Order: sequence, then C-alpha cells, then structure tokens
Amino acid sequence: MPTNCRTTHPPETDPRFEVPLRGVKVGAETRCAHYATERDVIAIRFPCCNVFYPCHACHKAVANHSAQQWDAQADLDEQAVLCGACRTVLTWRQYLNAEHACPDCGADFNPGCTTHLHLYMRGRTQ
Ligand SMILES: [Zn+2]
Ligand SMILES: [Zn+2]
Ligand SMILES: [Zn+2]
Repeated sequence: MPTNCRTTHPPETDPRFEVPLRGVKVGAETRCAHYATERDVIAIRFPCCNVFYPCHACHKAVANHSAQQWDAQADLDEQAVLCGACRTVLTWRQYLNAEHACPDCGADFNPGCTTHLHLYMRGRTQ
C-alpha cells in the first residue's frame, strides 16, 4: 500500500480530488482499504449524498447514513464512475460499455466489480 493513503469522514472531502470523495485509506488512484489491487482504480458516486466512494464498504464505514442505489434503467446517463487513474468521470452507460478499461486513459478496471454492481444499482439482473 502506498503511504499517502487517507481516511476522510464527513463533512470533509478529500482535497486531492476535484470531485467530493471520501473513504477508508484512499490512495491517489482511489484504491481503498477494501479493494487495493492494481485494477481497483474507480470510485462510485452514491445518489444519497452525491459523494464518490471507492467502494460500498467505504460508504458504510464513513457515511452517517445507509447507502442508496442508482436505478439500472433510469440513471444510466448519470456521471457516477470516477476513473482514479485519469480522474475522468464516466456515466454508467460509458462504464458498462467500456469492457473493463477506461475509455479515456485505457487503465484496466477490475472485472470483479461488475459482479457486485447490485450494491450500487438496483434492478440489475445479473
Ligand atoms: Zn451516501
Ligand atoms: Zn473501500
Ligand atoms: Zn482513465
């Protein structure tokens, strides 16, 4: 783990990022205490607070409310996925069509993330 990790609690957000972002031991490319492999470089905005978190467990650990999920149909064009490598914010549609890599910088995304998308989106069938 890099040494520049930090944990951010509300109402603070992480000044290293242009978007509001919080989490547990967040690294410069949005890896966190829970997901820290080479490919864990995305953060997801939650509709309940409009803050980006590296993962659902980060939201659970530092947010003072329970997480809400996006709607898998209605919210596809919401800019909800931050690439921690280049800091581009993708819509759900862009992320889901991206084949596990950032369409902007080409950074690999963890394909495992799509297996727990239901934690971020309700109405996903898989
Ligand atoms: Zn929230
Ligand atoms: Zn986390
Ligand atoms: Zn990128």
